[in-house]
Amino acid sequence: MNKAKIGAIVFLLVIVGVLVFLITSKEKARTEDLHEAMYYEVLEGKIVRCNLCPNRCILSPGQIGNCRARKNIDGKLYSLVYGKIAAKHLDPIEKKPLYHFLPGTKAYSIATTGCNLRCKFCQNWQIAQVFPWEVKTIDMTPEQVVEEALKSGAQSIAFTYTEPVVFYEFMLNTAKLAKEKGLKTVMITSGYINPEPLKNLLKYLDAVKIDFKGFSDKFYQKMTMGHVQPVLDAMKIVKESGKWLEIVNLIIPGENDSDEDIRNLALWVKENLGEDVPVHFTRFHPDYKLLNTPPTPIETLKRAREIAMEVGLKYVYTGNVYDPEGSTTYCPESREVAIKREGFFVIENNLDEEGKCPSGEKIPGVWK
Ligand code: SF4
Repeated sequence: MNKAKIGAIVFLLVIVGVLVFLITSKEKARTEDLHEAMYYEVLEGKIVRCNLCPNRCILSPGQIGNCRARKNIDGKLYSLVYGKIAAKHLDPIEKKPLYHFLPGTKAYSIATTGCNLRCKFCQNWQIAQVFPWEVKTIDMTPEQVVEEALKSGAQSIAFTYTEPVVFYEFMLNTAKLAKEKGLKTVMITSGYINPEPLKNLLKYLDAVKIDFKGFSDKFYQKMTMGHVQPVLDAMKIVKESGKWLEIVNLIIPGENDSDEDIRNLALWVKENLGEDVPVHFTRFHPDYKLLNTPPTPIETLKRAREIAMEVGLKYVYTGNVYDPEGSTTYCPESREVAIKREGFFVIENNLDEEGKCPSGEKIPGVWK
């Protein structure tokens, strides 16, 4: 081999070395900015399985999960959305809706991007059904979230708008800190999460609102690309934890609005969670991929409320419509007005600090 050939080989080796160095240091810099995910296992090679939600995505290096929020980088799973805030607002707690939880107070509400379901009727699809780099986000630490929440006068922090399960690690760390500072915490979720992470998170939450989509697996598969059973399981886990639970069922004309669907849900709630768990039937508006379905008629919502009350549920509401009766909390026996609301605002509250009506009947909830 002559000198020229040796020189060329050495030159090539140096170039390859430099490239390898540049690629690995870029990857290192990228992961240094990211937060390692919880609840995953390494399968063979560098393939990982995420165990946070029932999708249980199996991801090769470079792949991103169904939620668009977790990525396998070189055999480790990372959150792509830790501290990447896509929305923050100060909302009335009634907007969540939580009707039996600190009525008339404000919730400092935050979201990142992403969702682990694909609801065709998603009402926040602009931030829920996108990758984190597709929308404007701001960086916040849990400390900054808690500090801003305290300054805002909110009594709680709400993890909401998109699906908080996909920013689990950020929610968990923020909720832990919020507890230390005396703030309450609420999660507004579809309940599509595995039991172990849910139980761990519940230690730091005060209330959970679960968006229940429809009482059949067929509906879940067709409309959300998920399954119903994990959500039923999650509702039971929240109830058993003793944390406050309310359920919302968005009623979509022709899809989940039959008397049978409503009765089945009400019966299941009564038998598995109890008659005291509030259920809200809310109005659908055409959105995302369901633009040709009409809004839910108000009569359908009123009928749903009646069916659920006939079954024996005590606190049943209508939502996203003007319906004074369906947005009022009544004392169960005396039928006195306990809390009257207009839109997202409380205009009359006759409960004492313990949640007792003037007649002495106690309404379940978190009142102070
Ligand atoms: S959280 Fe995301 S990555 Fe994990 S299993 Fe669910 S969809 Fe997949």
